[in-house]
Amino acid sequence: MVTATRPEQQVKIGPTKLLINNEWVNSVSGRKFETINPSTGEVICDVAEADAADVDKAVIAARMAFNSGEWRQMSATRRGGLLYKLADLIEQNIDELAQLETLDNGKPLQNSYGDLGLVIACYRYYAGWADKVQGKTIPLNGPYFCYTRHEPVGVVGQIIPWNFPLLMQAWKLGPALATGNTVVMKTAEQTPLSALRVGELIIEAGFPPGVVNLLSGYGPTAGAAIANHMDIDKLAFTGSTEVGHLVMEAAAKSNLKRVSLELGGKSPNIVFADADLDAAIEGSHQALFFNQGQCCCAGSRLFVEERCYDEFVAKSVERAQRRVVGDPFDSNTEQGPQVDKEQFDKVIGYIESGMREGARMLCGGHRLGDRGFFIQPTVFTDVKDYMKIAQEEIFGPVMSIIKFKDINEVIERANNTMYGLAAAVWTQDISKAHTIANNVRAGTVWVNCFDVFDAAAPFGGFKQSGIGRELGEYGLEHYTEIKTVTIKL
Ligand code: ADP
Repeated sequence: MVTATRPEQQVKIGPTKLLINNEWVNSVSGRKFETINPSTGEVICDVAEADAADVDKAVIAARMAFNSGEWRQMSATRRGGLLYKLADLIEQNIDELAQLETLDNGKPLQNSYGDLGLVIACYRYYAGWADKVQGKTIPLNGPYFCYTRHEPVGVVGQIIPWNFPLLMQAWKLGPALATGNTVVMKTAEQTPLSALRVGELIIEAGFPPGVVNLLSGYGPTAGAAIANHMDIDKLAFTGSTEVGHLVMEAAAKSNLKRVSLELGGKSPNIVFADADLDAAIEGSHQALFFNQGQCCCAGSRLFVEERCYDEFVAKSVERAQRRVVGDPFDSNTEQGPQVDKEQFDKVIGYIESGMREGARMLCGGHRLGDRGFFIQPTVFTDVKDYMKIAQEEIFGPVMSIIKFKDINEVIERANNTMYGLAAAVWTQDISKAHTIANNVRAGTVWVNCFDVFDAAAPFGGFKQSGIGRELGEYGLEHYTEIKTVTIKL
């Protein structure tokens, strides 16, 4: 169902320049790029386009702020106070930010509000950590006093994706700022606007110049310049596994900057016949279709036990057909457009490949409407492990249902992937739940739930889904260097 798209003019756009040293500036080249409304395919506005020269400027500002500015002298409690203030300002401007996010990304407005709840919680969570990061005293052999200090790493380069622009910004800025680093962040070229509006709030909150620098621009230019930069101490990247390889290589070849990566996934979602089936069907539906299927942890390999397979398939198809797709500003909408033409084409390509390889398409499969990048919720059954749609990250509203017989078999099949980001199991049997949780190689396992995120719970990947963890206390680890101080007594 497609509903009319509301006039975009009602959404306030906010800044469109680069934020360097607390000033809004044009790019050195003067170039701009268009950001597109995925609901219509029309241009929203032009945005200043950063490249290597702007990265250099931003790194100089960040380095100065790190070395000599008031940031370095500031008490940890005060740093936390700035983060609390930022959270308050985001809360006060939540309507504007939610609308901007929906306009630029296409996600339903209610989901933008959901993301913003997590954004605010994330800044508050790390605000609380700012003055609680501490070292140890260590007993040495001999007349020495030894202790460790957890110092900021320095200038941090952060590259974020377009699927959760505000939330990815929060996951990156929260721990980096709590621990006293300075930041050069590149947002995704598809969705620059909401992060820039947060830039205004960062200035308003009182962060000193150079502490947070925000660049809009493309990956192979601005992104690569960050990954290759000789004066960036650490790189935090979220995006595809393919680009993860590139940025890690660039980090290795330049200055061995520390690298943390949050990459792709092909997460197994395992439903046993003893599960509360209605909950499993709705949970699995959301696990796949949430955010237009554009989640790195989407439950995109849906393993269903043979004994409940037919019922599960029938009800899942019925649920997918009921999914309301359309104007993301409409409060009934569950699914908006894919973020851009490239993603739209990629998803349609996977649907075609599923049909070619012999999976059975029971609903969807086509574009919806004649403008924007909407795709019908699509369900494939009889999917085999070797098919492309069961192996590669589709990043779209395409459910692949796979049959299994017993627990040992499903564990082996679930692990038969280069990814290891997340997994889920639906069962009433506590022993099965723990067996899956212990044996599936993934950074997060959800039991009888999915996509439960909390700023306190670490998130990240095994295998080629990433390196390191974000969120929680673990999320602070990448943003500090440990210094050992030894004093002769
Ligand atoms: P997706 O395929 O979901 O768009 P990408 O990994 O391509 O994911 O993009 C995630 C982020 O990485 C974006 O900000 C993008 O601009 C950036 N990026 C893409 N290519 C490169 C690159 N070669 N070097 C650094 N960053 C890049």
